[in-house]
Amino acid sequence: MAKRTLSLLAAAAIAAGGLTTAVAVTSPAPAAAQDCYTWSGTLSEGDSGEAVTELQIRVAGWMSTGEHLTIDGEYGPATAAAVKRFQSGYGLSADGVAGEQTFNKIYELTSSDCTPAHFEYSEFDENCGANSFEGGKVSAGEAMENTRRVMWQLEAMRHKLDDTPLGITSGIRSVDCNASVGGSASSRHMWADAADLGNGANSVAHCTLYHAARDAGFTEILGAGYPNHDDHVHVANGTSQNHQAPNC
Ligand SMILES: [Zn+2]
Repeated sequence: MAKRTLSLLAAAAIAAGGLTTAVAVTSPAPAAAQDCYTWSGTLSEGDSGEAVTELQIRVAGWMSTGEHLTIDGEYGPATAAAVKRFQSGYGLSADGVAGEQTFNKIYELTSSDCTPAHFEYSEFDENCGANSFEGGKVSAGEAMENTRRVMWQLEAMRHKLDDTPLGITSGIRSVDCNASVGGSASSRHMWADAADLGNGANSVAHCTLYHAARDAGFTEILGAGYPNHDDHVHVANGTSQNHQAPNC
């Protein structure tokens, strides 16, 4: 929204002949720019810290069925196993140690706004027409960070589905937006760690999406046969595990 307002101001300034003013009105850097990360050395089991956290975010979609990776900056066995699956998923030698090959693959999968290559913030911020990450249960910055984590899990899910594009039909919802669309009072969409994959927006079958999501580390996955979820698969990183799609 802020960016849009600035563009309008710039356009107005140009219309008024004030080119100098227009040039001075610069768009803010993307809020997530600080999240583009460069690793400085090999990481393996037993390591900890920010470098591990950033790695965990990018391999969190490479889990075994029903498992969720805790993003805690501790390179434990679950992180090593996720790194190993990531490596074999991209044809690298799979040893569970994150070194140059692994980091180069991650860089290759990262676009200039620091999100994974096949997902954009704009796919998640419809927010009842607001086109912003504002108004949820967390700050817009935190909402974008939560969404970035979801994106990396979806990137893994997409790759495992033979690189088939995934269509997002709902991401962040402000509290008001969530109420107006009849979302649950505790819907993770208000924390922006949720995404809906609508049937009409996806070429992959509903139940295939459901099962793929179970291998991508989401704690909350609701689909066909769960009330109000026949037309989309809902994935999220809520605090408790809830996987339900009785018709899948
Ligand atoms: Zn949902």
